[in-house]
Amino acid sequence: MSSQLSFDVLPLAGVVPKIDPAAPSKPALLLDRDGVLNVDTGYVGRYRDFRWIPGAIETLIAFSRANWHIRVVTNQSGIAHGKYTEEDVQRLHADIACDVTAAGARIDAFYYCPYHAESPIERYRFVDHPDRKPNPGMLIKALRDCGADTARSIMVGDKASDLEAGLRAGVKALHFRSQGRLDDFLAECLRKQGAF
Ligand SMILES: [Mg+2]
Repeated sequence: MSSQLSFDVLPLAGVVPKIDPAAPSKPALLLDRDGVLNVDTGYVGRYRDFRWIPGAIETLIAFSRANWHIRVVTNQSGIAHGKYTEEDVQRLHADIACDVTAAGARIDAFYYCPYHAESPIERYRFVDHPDRKPNPGMLIKALRDCGADTARSIMVGDKASDLEAGLRAGVKALHFRSQGRLDDFLAECLRKQGAF
């Protein structure tokens, strides 16, 4: 993880719109997890399998400092497929949050969808659950829970289902292809698209 000293010179920090902390409604950065925050090695349910994507921590720092809401929205069909449990995922998210706090940043909340149409576990078997991306349910909940300014909010994902969910939730959707650094990717997007 980077040292605190390197954070001020990050290119992303210069282009993330700064939000007045007292603003009645702030934009939210909605982040897919696997392939955006961590390397998607397939069914990551435990911290020992979790590897940060380069620039992900720096992204969280930049948006935290700019007073954005920051929420993770992740499909976790690994729960439905019995690869790991909800408790495992919650523990992993607590461990991720520890890393983020240690870096001086924050993730305000984690949302995960444990359902899948072909789950062998009955309580997780659900065809086309409204929370499972590309459906926008989880994102709408995340935005509503913090009273986010939807029109200025952003969803970042590595799959078409993330982008579709973002568009259906009414936010801007950005496609990170899990190549290169997340902070550089977002800096480039923000520079191109101008102020949000
Ligand atoms: Mg993903």
